This record gives sequence, C-alpha cells and structure tokens, in this order.
Amino acid sequence: MAKIQMTTPLVEMDGDEMTRILWGMIKEELINPYVDLKTEYYDLGLKHRNETDDQVTIDSANATNKYGVAVKCATITPNAARVKEYDLKEMWKSPNGTIRSILDGTVFRAPILVKGIVPYVANWKKPITIARHAYGDVYKNVEIKVPGAGKAELVYTAEDGSEIRETIHQFKGPGIIQGIHNTEDSIRSFAQACFKYAVDTKQDLWFSTKDTISKKYDHTFKDIFQEIYDNEYAGKFKELGIEYFYTLIDDAVARVIRSEGGFIWACKNYDGDVMSDMVATAYGDLSMMTSVLVSPKGVYEYEAAHGTVQRHYYKHLKGEETSTNSIATIFAWTGALRKRGEIDGIKELCAFADRLEKACIKTVEDGKMTKSLSLISTCSEPVILNSLDFIRAIRATFDELGE
Ligand code: NAP
Ligand code: MG
Repeated sequence: MAKIQMTTPLVEMDGDEMTRILWGMIKEELINPYVDLKTEYYDLGLKHRNETDDQVTIDSANATNKYGVAVKCATITPNAARVKEYDLKEMWKSPNGTIRSILDGTVFRAPILVKGIVPYVANWKKPITIARHAYGDVYKNVEIKVPGAGKAELVYTAEDGSEIRETIHQFKGPGIIQGIHNTEDSIRSFAQACFKYAVDTKQDLWFSTKDTISKKYDHTFKDIFQEIYDNEYAGKFKELGIEYFYTLIDDAVARVIRSEGGFIWACKNYDGDVMSDMVATAYGDLSMMTSVLVSPKGVYEYEAAHGTVQRHYYKHLKGEETSTNSIATIFAWTGALRKRGEIDGIKELCAFADRLEKACIKTVEDGKMTKSLSLISTCSEPVILNSLDFIRAIRATFDELGE
C-alpha cells in the first residue's frame, strides 16, 4: 500500500524519559509504515535544551506559529534535582510555559473514553473538555501578611500620575491581604481560543465565573466573552447548532455533575487548575487525557496531559520491562495529523488519524491493555502487555480495521 503523502511539515517536539522512548516506538510502529511523515524536528529533550540555552524551545514555538500545527512529547520541567541529574547550566523554565507564552495559547484537556473504564460520575457519557485560562489571578499575586492595626488600600497610578484609590480594609489587628490582576488582552486571547475550539470541535462552550460577587473583576471576564461571542461567533454557533452558555461557577459545578458531558468548560485560572484535576480523576486515568494548546490565531500544539513517566523510565534503563500507556501520546499524533490533513485538504491523513484512534480504543476494549489501565478496567481477564507489545497490538488492530 502506498504511504499517505503530506504537503506541509508538522512541527515535531521530541521530549524526555519514558515518553521519549514511546515517541520512537509510535513513529516506527504506527506512523512511518503508513505515512510519508514530513516533520520539522526539534529536540526538546532536556540535554539538548541545556546545550542550546533553551533556544530550541523558542525555535520550536516560532516554527509552530509559522506552520500552524505541532505535536509535542512530554518534557521535564527542571527542578533542583534535575539540575543536578542533568548538570544543567540553569534551571530552565517549563517548556510548556515558554511555548504557551509565545503562542499566547489556551490549553484544552479532554479524556479518551473507552468501554470498560467507567467514569466515577455514572451519567458522564461523553468527554468534558476543560479550558483553563493560564495567566494571572492568584498565580501572579502580591501578598502582604498584615502585622497589626492599619489601613489597607488598593491604589492604581496612571501614567499621568492620577490615582484611583479604594480602601480594602481598616484592620483592627493582624490579617492578610492579596493583590491580583489580569489584562484585557489575555482575557480576549483566552476567549478567542475558546470560541475557536468550540467551532472547531462543534461542541457547546460553557463559561463560568463568580461575577455576582466580583462585580468588576469577574464581571469583566463575563463581558469580554459575551462581546466577542455577539460580535464574532453568534452566527457561526447558530449555523453549527452549538451553544454558548454562561453561568456562575457554583451553578456550573452542579450542572457539570448532572450532565452527560460532551462540551467545553472554560474556567478562570484557579478554577481550571482545580476542576481539571477533578474531571481527569473522575474519568479514570491521567494516561488517558489529551491536551491541545490553541492560540487565538488558530495555531495548534497537541500533546498528552501526563508527564515523562520518570519511574517507568528508570525501570527501562535498568533493563526491566515497562507497561506504559502510550494512548494519550498516540492521540497527540493523531490530533496533529488530522489537523494537518484538514488544513491541507488531505482526506487520507484525516482518515488515517480516525482509524488509528479507533484502533487504540478497540485494542483496550478487546481486553489488551497496559498495567495501569487493567487496574481501573472492568474487563474480567485483561491481557496485560508491555509498552512495545501494546503498541504492536494497536498496530494489529489498525491493520484489521483496514480490511
Ligand atoms: P507523570 O510523568 O505524569 O507520572 C506520574 C505517575 O502517573 C507515573 O509514575 C505513573 O504511575 C502514572 N502515569 C502517568 N502517565 C502514565 C502512562 N502514560 N502510563 C502509565 N502510567 C502513567 O508525572 P511526574 O512523575 O510527576 O512527572 C515526571 C516528569 O514529567 C517531571 O519532570 C515533570 O516536570 C514532567 N511533566 C511534564 C509534563 C508535560 O510535558 N506536559 C506534564 C507533567 C509533568 P506509576 O508510577 O504508579 O505507574
Ligand atoms: Mg493542578
């Protein structure tokens, strides 16, 4: 069979540890035999990031802006232990943070559902995609531990020297205060990415804040979303039969639990942090969560939501067998290849991505899975496979599906 041809390269961001091993296996077993893969390769492995003073991360993000679609392997975010382990020149910043700020993107996380892995919330039938605003609020706060009685004020000084001043609290004794901020630009980018992704995936978009209590701060989020929806997306949503729905965060939580799923839930930074962990856990497993970074211009970077699976990598280095789940990383590839196919009008590439995803799901539903999946699956006699054999089983299913 002739391999599928591509016209525009994918930006390929290689990564670290166990996921780097899986990366190679996925390409060799599942992509290269079927697709004449065209990529512009960037090695974001920590060793190479260190050698290039992290320039490779910046270059890969710029390439993503240029070509429009990237696929990324999980990467190590260095901490003190990693600085020692890799003899780093510096404690380099999180690659995801660097890429996100260059693309000005929003991260959308969604679970991959398979029969036999039942969400804790019984009525969830379809994935819930969480979009988390990744700038500001409590993550860029300024805090003071108030030592004793005194007045706390909020002061804004304009460039011309004029002031806006509000009393926060007249303290009678010790306490605490916190200053947080966000910018209109960042909220607009977030809103644009959310509406674009809803149109792209033809799903309803929910957005929630606490605007009844936070009448200026949260209300601004609500107003910006509404304005962008009314001016740019209302017609498109109507055409697609999808809905934009705003509600209070506490009401949203209640509705999400009662829902069937099948929508995007846009959250402010803190809400997204908390809710994405809740939703991921309720759906079963971090190794079954996909993640895509979408820029307000409509540039896409696909990856798995999990990390580099360090513990498995050390086993692998010792020559021990591993049973690491590659599904979320495979879905990063299929997401990117499908998007490339859509943009370039290559139907075969989209069909390939669809079939490979089906093969992943069917393999697990047929009872062949990795260790971690077997622990949460209702399958009575699962066949537990090692990392490579699992990928090979997916390949066998893929080939069967084609016949
Ligand atoms: P992790 O790599 O997600 O792994 C945590 C644990 O979850 C693993 O030890 C494993 O549990 C389980 N797990 C995760 N993915 C799995 C998979 N595909 N198959 C089977 N089990 C899986 O998180 P971490 O250990 O906290 O972080 C390791 C490194 O990843 C860190 O250096 C961190 O900076 C980086 N990281 C990168 C990204 C990213 O690039 N997007 C995201 C998060 C973390 P068991 O050990 O019990 O089997
Ligand atoms: Mg968190």
